[in-house]
Amino acid sequence: MARFGAIEAGGTKFMLAVGEDPLRLEEVTRIATSPEPAETMAAVVEYFRKAGPLDALGVATFGPVDFASGCITTTPKLAWRNYPLRAVLEQELRVRVGFDTDVNGAALAEARCGAGQGIEDLVYFTVGTGIGGGAVVGGRLVHGLMHSEMGHLLVRRAAEEAPGFAGVCPYHGDCLEGMASGPAMEARWGRRAEALPENHPAWRVEADYLAQACVNVACVLSPRVIALGGGVMEQPQLLERIRGRVAEYANGYFPLPRIERPALAYPGLSGALILAQEAAR
Ligand code: ADP
Ligand code: ZN
Repeated sequence: MARFGAIEAGGTKFMLAVGEDPLRLEEVTRIATSPEPAETMAAVVEYFRKAGPLDALGVATFGPVDFASGCITTTPKLAWRNYPLRAVLEQELRVRVGFDTDVNGAALAEARCGAGQGIEDLVYFTVGTGIGGGAVVGGRLVHGLMHSEMGHLLVRRAAEEAPGFAGVCPYHGDCLEGMASGPAMEARWGRRAEALPENHPAWRVEADYLAQACVNVACVLSPRVIALGGGVMEQPQLLERIRGRVAEYANGYFPLPRIERPALAYPGLSGALILAQEAAR
């Protein structure tokens, strides 16, 4: 029986698991992300040493990442900047390491065994502290010069946007993440997204931006399914609003992708396990 390790590396937490199958993650464990990479990585290495021999390890990480060096690059977490995440795991654990972004991992898992269930064309967005998007096209993850950066799509102002709100992206101000991430909502409305009532205008504005993202991605990649995850999407009313707004923006010109919540409990972690399976091949 094969045994793989899986890591979903995030800015607040690292999720770890082992197992043979992305749908049956074992020993799922959470480790807080320390400002010091060495501290976090010592705990990660200890977990996998205790877990026993692995056929391969998969890492689905926050980004942006550089695939040539296996590093996270321009993160505001300074000590993690250019930290050789992949090489440290290879050296410490002596295994092959599959390495991709958290959202590419999640897209892969949702396409293979989640909301897509064998669908070859799927886009996954997470809407949380940041916004990120990953894409599977023709059954394969999209890579080019680097990886997709769909969180930084440029969007136009929603009709009901708060006047004067400049957006919170440190690089672009009013890109998708700057306007629609959890921190953007908090900055604009003065309270955390989870504290905004269901009938607050915030949700119409939020649905507008996320619908723009879905339509733009549909125009470029033509996915069959767009899965929307992350903390902000925990709002039950948001999905229907987004679907409605997507239909308005598309205006009957092309068939609409299915817009769904993720089907998996841990899309990124299941994706990391698939990355491990592929690294072992
Ligand atoms: P992270 O992106 O850090 O991995 P999350 O996906 O949980 O973690 O995103 C955190 C963001 O999501 C915060 O800005 C928070 O305000 C927002 N959030 C968390 N839970 C909810 C909820 N139930 N409804 C709306 N927003 C939420
Ligand atoms: Zn941006």
